[in-house]
Amino acid sequence: MTEARYYTATDDGVRCGLCPHHCRIREGGRGRCRSRECRDGRLYALSYGRPCAIADDPVEKKPLNEFLPGTRCLSLSCTGCNLACRWCQNSDISQVAPEEADAYSLTPEEVVELCLRRGLPSIAYTYTEPFTWWEFMYDIASLAHDKGLKNILVSAGFAEREPLRELLPFLDAANIDIKAMDDAFYRKYCGASLAPVLENILMMRDAGVHIEITNLLVPGLNDSEEQVARLCGWMAENGLQDVPLHFSRYFPRYQMQHPGPTPKATLLAARETALSLGIRSVYLGNL
Ligand code: SF4
Repeated sequence: MTEARYYTATDDGVRCGLCPHHCRIREGGRGRCRSRECRDGRLYALSYGRPCAIADDPVEKKPLNEFLPGTRCLSLSCTGCNLACRWCQNSDISQVAPEEADAYSLTPEEVVELCLRRGLPSIAYTYTEPFTWWEFMYDIASLAHDKGLKNILVSAGFAEREPLRELLPFLDAANIDIKAMDDAFYRKYCGASLAPVLENILMMRDAGVHIEITNLLVPGLNDSEEQVARLCGWMAENGLQDVPLHFSRYFPRYQMQHPGPTPKATLLAARETALSLGIRSVYLGNL
């Protein structure tokens, strides 16, 4: 059992400080991400060393189109997410507890060794929310850098500043998923909030991390021209016009069986809007 970082003791348990939910967890209980548990007054990272998915992916699948293009990365995931998007494409591993998914048993050294043995230049922390298994990610990332490998974060970016700050020296690239430029949307459909995500993107930019942004367009919910313009406006205001932007096609999944997939015309229109507002590289995904 690996003790978690970023928590404080309370009268009846602990309070986790890893993400803005700040879960208050009583003895024997778990946080919203299901992967951090309080035992004997301490918080434990339950999925440490227990990756539920390991794959060898093209880096463009993360998606990162302008970071080590044409290479492949070791993609790694543990269970757990601190968001609850109703259309989650990976709910079988993101919305479950560690014991509800099959898992490998691997140390950080073994993960790095696997990556080196396969001759891959980078490791991607992906598929679920890597901040909910921060300790495992951090230990792998620091070792990977020692061996000359690059680290890629694929995240919704809903984390506290300090864990991100500690990770930054080892982070080379990130794809951050902005769900919508609308806090009410975040609260209603994702169980999170927008402001920390935007702050964290700017923090990564200031640290020189290569960033790409993804925006899943859900028909009727966040795909209006006004919403797209708001996202591009924020990018422009913050000097992020050169950050590659990926509009991704929604498909019904998990708790959302309606509406149907995003029409191709909507994605093309979003791309035109973004280009007209000065975003340099706009890609369409899941088409
Ligand atoms: S990381 Fe998990 S336990 Fe910690 S505050 Fe966020 S949701 Fe709660």
